[in-house]
Amino acid sequence: MEKDVFKKSLLTPQETEEDTVLNVALRPSKISEFINQKEVVENIFIAIKAAKKRQEVLEHILFSGPPGLGKTTLAHIIAKETGAQITSTTGPSIERAGDLVGILTNLKQGNIFFIDEIHRLSKLVEEFLYPAMENFQIDFVIDKGPYARTIKFTLKPFVLVGATTRSGLLTGALRGRFGMHFHLDFYKPADLLLVIKRTAEILGIFIEDGAATEIAKRSRGTPRIANRLLKRVRDYAQVKFDGKITKKISEEALKMQGVDTEGLDNLDRKMLETIINIYNGGPAGIEAIAASLNEERDTLEDVVEPYLLKAGFIKRTSRGRQATDLAYKHLNISCLKSSSAQKQIFEC
Ligand code: ADP
Repeated sequence: MEKDVFKKSLLTPQETEEDTVLNVALRPSKISEFINQKEVVENIFIAIKAAKKRQEVLEHILFSGPPGLGKTTLAHIIAKETGAQITSTTGPSIERAGDLVGILTNLKQGNIFFIDEIHRLSKLVEEFLYPAMENFQIDFVIDKGPYARTIKFTLKPFVLVGATTRSGLLTGALRGRFGMHFHLDFYKPADLLLVIKRTAEILGIFIEDGAATEIAKRSRGTPRIANRLLKRVRDYAQVKFDGKITKKISEEALKMQGVDTEGLDNLDRKMLETIINIYNGGPAGIEAIAASLNEERDTLEDVVEPYLLKAGFIKRTSRGRQATDLAYKHLNISCLKSSSAQKQIFEC
């Protein structure tokens, strides 16, 4: 079976190499430039002001939500707004507790320590972080057996900002040590429209409102995808036309990239077709669907499924994933055909 991993990269909410290059230019650096997520932004703004007034450092902050919605951006904005330095790392890259000693002891008062994918910290590293978060102290054991010695380090008060796409995987103990927890949700097309217009302005792209709306509609509620689609459409407009992006050009370009009117790509459609055609609409277990698609379960759970759920193409039941009426309609599949196979009567 043909793998769609490469094609998925256009609509994957995870950062790709292409994104990294433009990230610096496009990432909002001030709280006022950050579009949408009003409630989260306001709460952060108040927390920063209050901490400044009390001359204290901020409480540790946890951001959760799907990839590409602005968690890293917010961590950088907090650093900028508090005038602090930011040190960034990711959960899986900290292999041993010892890796953290150097980072933590070098943090200055109020510095931001950002850990992306914090749910992927090892248990040992996570436990090592607890006293650092709570009392700004760490106990580091050197040597082994009878020669083992514990060295105590007192740290400068710092702010741990954690980001996770899977907050359900965080232990209660770690979650409880964050003073603030903000969940970011998918953006509405109207907000993505603003993201696209802002990016177009920064990159000097001329785009009609109708075209920006079309891209926003197909960006799966994710600013990172909106920016990526805009760049692909710009390439198409520059190569085939004079560079100006009209609605028609955006539609053509997106169609050529396999992105349909609802922002679904081949892998999304294949997942829906598998549930409908192989499992008679479901419910079907994620392992079974992944096996039928010859895909990793994680790819489906992290990349494909969140948006299909959010957009209402599938629903999750206790027995697995089920295709909704919307999925049948979107794929133009008659539900009578699949229901007769199941010997069930249902309407859609
Ligand atoms: P995450 O850490 O949640 O995966 P990022 O913070 O890396 O997401 O955001 C991905 C990209 O999307 C950023 O580089 C930025 O250009 C854009 N972006 C995210 N949120 C916003 C926003 N609210 N306003 C404008 N651009 C945004």
